[in-house]
Amino acid sequence: MENIKFDIKQIVRPNVLGLSPYSSARDEYVSDGSTMIFLDANENPFENGVNRYPDPQQRSLKAELAKLKGVSETNILLGNGSDEVLDLIFRAFCEPSVDNIITLPPTYGMYKVLADINTIDNRKVLLQTGFQPDVTKILETVDEYTKVIFLCSPNNPTGNSFSEESIISILEDFNGLVVIDEAYIDFSSKNSWLQKIEYYPNLVITQTLSKAYGLAGIRLGLCYASEEIINILNKIKPPYNVNELTQQRALERVINYDKVTFEVSKILKEREALIKALSKISFVEKIYESDANFVLVKIDDANKRYQQLLELGIVVRNRSTQPLCKNTLRFTVGTEEENHKLIDEMIKIDN
Ligand SMILES: *Cc1c(COP(=O)(O)O)cnc(C)c1O
Repeated sequence: MENIKFDIKQIVRPNVLGLSPYSSARDEYVSDGSTMIFLDANENPFENGVNRYPDPQQRSLKAELAKLKGVSETNILLGNGSDEVLDLIFRAFCEPSVDNIITLPPTYGMYKVLADINTIDNRKVLLQTGFQPDVTKILETVDEYTKVIFLCSPNNPTGNSFSEESIISILEDFNGLVVIDEAYIDFSSKNSWLQKIEYYPNLVITQTLSKAYGLAGIRLGLCYASEEIINILNKIKPPYNVNELTQQRALERVINYDKVTFEVSKILKEREALIKALSKISFVEKIYESDANFVLVKIDDANKRYQQLLELGIVVRNRSTQPLCKNTLRFTVGTEEENHKLIDEMIKIDN
């Protein structure tokens, strides 16, 4: 099971390997809760709730997340959205103008954007029919400079999860990092890969509070991996990358996780109702299976229907320019009222 050839030192950028992280005032002295006088960080001493720098290691939040997710705090890194976490992965492991990554379009656009920003070649291996990874082709595309393979499961914009067999093959036969982006895992019928980080030293999981947790506005992304990988990412992260307000709001939500579960169950019920109603619209040609809080739908003319819905005050995402997604729209599952309005308007357009 274990990928024995994997050696982290072989894949981290040499300059990062030798780096010592910036040590901030709050790294050097961590409050143990006793009343101390803080004259170390040039803060304004008058209390207003946020006059102090935030905890650079977000200890309270990580402790609650560790309990909720059943992992150790040392396996967690938090960032300013998963977009920052993904960028840290590029900057720690991919040497600009030398290394490459593999992505599986149609998929989340940020991997390519980050590759371009970091001057990393993005090797694309299209998903197969059924939107599953083409494992043979992926492994053929790997060369000695391939550092990361990005798997988005459940995948955006297609909505499906990748098969367990294909993910295992990639984890076992590739000696670089395998990042599984689980932004939509809370909506999925499949298990998270989180508990597998102890078996696969090359596995990195990213999650976010932006979707199921209902906190897109606070920007909190999560990364889970071996302590070795987390330590490397910690070396390069900005010291105060997760602000105090974000830490507080995230902590409150994680402690009250039952509210998240409740909202997710409502969204899943609505997803089923939406799929049923969409299947009765005559210009809807195919509704793809969804493990997420959105559905990808193939229709007669995506540009035309997108415009019609826009004029009726409904904004959906036109994914038609994506490979394998000709004439598709992506519908996020809204509230019951929003979904009824969408369906009413679709029926009107249909006649
Ligand atoms: C929405 C989304 C994210 C979330 O990114 P944040 O920066 O955490 O808001 C990550 N990955 C995928 C595939 C997404 O669709």
